[in-house]
Amino acid sequence: MAGLMDAYVYCDNPQALQVARRLADWAKTGTDKLTDEQMQKMLEIEHGGINEAFANLYAFTGEEKYLQLALRFNHMEVIGPASNREDNLTGKHANTQIPKFVGTAREYELTGQDRLKTASEFFWDTVVKNRTYVIGGNSLGEMFTAPEKLSEALGPNTCETCNTYNMLKLTRHLFSWEPRAEYADYYERALYNHILASQNPVTGMMCYFLPLAAGQKQYSTPEDSFWCCTGTGIENHAKYGDSIFFHQGQTSLFANLFIASELRWPALGLVLRQETKYPEQGRTRFVFACEKPIPLRFQIRHPYWATSGFDIRVNGVKEPDESVPGSYAVVVRNWNNGDTVEVNMPFSLRTEGFHDNPHRVALMYGPLVLCAESQADPEGTCPAIINEEGNLTSGLKAVPGQPCNFTGSSQILRLSLENSNYVTLEPIHAMHGNRKYVVYWNAITSAEWQRNLPDYQALEARTVDRVLPGHDESERAHGFQGASTGTDGSRWRDAFAGGWFSWDLKVNPGQPQELRVKYWGGDTGGREFDILVAGQKLATVTLDNNKPGEFYEETYSIPTELTQGRSKMTVKFQAHPGKMAGGVFGCAILTSSDTNAAAQPATRSQ
Ligand SMILES: [Zn+2]
Repeated sequence: MAGLMDAYVYCDNPQALQVARRLADWAKTGTDKLTDEQMQKMLEIEHGGINEAFANLYAFTGEEKYLQLALRFNHMEVIGPASNREDNLTGKHANTQIPKFVGTAREYELTGQDRLKTASEFFWDTVVKNRTYVIGGNSLGEMFTAPEKLSEALGPNTCETCNTYNMLKLTRHLFSWEPRAEYADYYERALYNHILASQNPVTGMMCYFLPLAAGQKQYSTPEDSFWCCTGTGIENHAKYGDSIFFHQGQTSLFANLFIASELRWPALGLVLRQETKYPEQGRTRFVFACEKPIPLRFQIRHPYWATSGFDIRVNGVKEPDESVPGSYAVVVRNWNNGDTVEVNMPFSLRTEGFHDNPHRVALMYGPLVLCAESQADPEGTCPAIINEEGNLTSGLKAVPGQPCNFTGSSQILRLSLENSNYVTLEPIHAMHGNRKYVVYWNAITSAEWQRNLPDYQALEARTVDRVLPGHDESERAHGFQGASTGTDGSRWRDAFAGGWFSWDLKVNPGQPQELRVKYWGGDTGGREFDILVAGQKLATVTLDNNKPGEFYEETYSIPTELTQGRSKMTVKFQAHPGKMAGGVFGCAILTSSDTNAAAQPATRSQ
């Protein structure tokens, strides 16, 4: 429906509107006989933005019946509470909900009903402020998780791209009702750090999820994958020109985004050119072209992150601007042909923590989220940023000739317990291909690090052998075998339809040892399997949402008789018939934590 109406609006195709009408008539005939209760029951299933589509059809045709149809397609289980400023979203499929509120926003514009406005505004507020990660995206494994534990909800599948596509659409509606810098600030955050980050500039392929704990971007393929995020995903990149400027009547102009562009405003006889290399540089320049002077209130976004050095020069002369970060700087004058406005907004480094855990932080430079390439998985406190509180970014140095890139020693940025290299930070939108990266760091003081290091080192010292599931090199080195098994190629492995997988891990002969396995607590859906070592069953495991929103480890003790006379053993994950095994996110053999056993020396393998 939306596509048909786009064909009508953007391509002037009246036949497309005609087809949309007939489709809507069909939907009306099909649902007229349903009671409201039956309608609501039907709407429990994902139905996209159909209420928005019918509302738009009403706007184009003026036919009341389509507005009534749109309102009948409002799913009250979530719209009702939101209109009372209640958030009942935890555990719900995220992108099933977002389009419903783009729909209520459009319906409010056409009906003036306050409840619809409140629902749309409240939904935006609660999702952006309580459920959104640093890149402006939301959801974990497509779901809304508990906001009070967002900092733990960093599994492999954070931030579905479609969700952000829809949140930006909703943001445009809200900004047009009330031009708050907060809306435009969010738009910028999500645009540079999620949308721009979601396309591989080499292949043109799009991301479904964008992992934030540690992982690599997974892209669609030209012929073998076509997700929701491929469809809306390609549309995203045709929309960079979409929300740069907004106007209020003929007297006020907002510059929301700093993107090289040209605004043509025929009614005023104005052509406004924006020249900038943003976000490589924290400045922009506007050049006015007009035949006669134009009185205009020009409002330039003073971004929330521009906390020092923001200034505006009109024709080279500094404006007496008193705007604060997260508002608009206003220049009112008669604009003449050739007038220029230069805006300086120096970027600076800072960290941004979670509401529920201010000590888990992401690094930002101006509007950009930074990430670091890393092969290591999160472990213990790592990745960690080690520095004094309130002064986390001191000691990070700009990389000469590489805009927005920084480097830090392992004294400050620690990717793994054993890491001792310099770490380079770069914008997440520039991290592409099969490079693995981390975004979030645990902020700890040097004193804490020194205090905890012995514990970490003790755990490391107990490690006899470890395989990185899904990691090609590591798996090959550990004699990987399997049937009906899958992996993301970097972090996990599972088996499906009764399949299996195994690795050979080193053991210390004749000593009691432990098998430690890492799982994702949100895994569910028929995951029942046995763990076998040296052909003997060690445990039967069921994964069914065991610890929603977090990784956890289980330790299984390996009896001494099994390690007798062996220097390595096969660890096998065997799914029950028709079931899945795993996902396994980590697998290691440790010397026993039992005090007597731990006294025996461990031979450490590399
Ligand atoms: Zn999607």
